[in-house]
Amino acid sequence: MPELPEVQTVLDGLEAAVKDRIIADLEGYYPGTVRLSPGLPQSCFPRRFASFERRGKYMIIRLEGDLALIVHLRMTGKLVWDPSPGEILPHERARIILDADQAVHFIDIRTFGKIILCRTEEIAEYLPDLGPEPLSNEFDKAYLATALAKRKAPIKNALLDQSLVAGLGNIYVLELLYRAGIDPRREACGLSSLQLGRIVKHTKEVLAEALAANGTSVSDFRSIDDKTGEFQNFLRVYQKNECPRGHKIEVVKQAGRSSFFCPVCQK
Ligand SMILES: [Zn+2]
Repeated sequence: MPELPEVQTVLDGLEAAVKDRIIADLEGYYPGTVRLSPGLPQSCFPRRFASFERRGKYMIIRLEGDLALIVHLRMTGKLVWDPSPGEILPHERARIILDADQAVHFIDIRTFGKIILCRTEEIAEYLPDLGPEPLSNEFDKAYLATALAKRKAPIKNALLDQSLVAGLGNIYVLELLYRAGIDPRREACGLSSLQLGRIVKHTKEVLAEALAANGTSVSDFRSIDDKTGEFQNFLRVYQKNECPRGHKIEVVKQAGRSSFFCPVCQK
């Protein structure tokens, strides 16, 4: 599932490919993939791209004339730029038609992904409650101490909660907890100030490294030009048998997801 580094990588690629271009049309090929805010004018296009932002795992693409596309890749969504599009592709759920007969395909095997077209003042209504960005200064030890003070849930589950911190998913939470030396099953409210500081530090570090590597391709993540990321080569516990120090990795289920951790390095 794309997390913050993968979404940012796709967004950066999209911006490079379509900046200053014009959307000629938006076509949906699967029920519910494309959602239009009620009461939008009959014809919203053609319309030029204005800006590209990310919030958590959401892409917010502003268009001229106060409209915006909110793109959520969810489990398996991909955006693929195509300079000479033809027939509808396998698993293509929607298509952003560009000027000059180019297109961006929205490919999504699992069909959970969404593209929402709304007015810019409606963007917040279409986003869930999102906590601070993990790479922002707002995400610090003091914030985490307050946010986790009454949480008895395991620290892993707490960090996956997008309303606590936006953009983390299974892979990066497991990797940052390994680096921080914290067992993912530990009760969130029981962590020391020192441990919270380590979580903040390693969250920022692992995300920065993954961004530099253009994300992690463990399943079908691809950037806009269909290239894989490289961070899978730097994973320390996720889908591993041994940690970097040679200890055997354990796997447990937490909230329906597999947690990989080292019982020796993580306490
Ligand atoms: Zn270990």
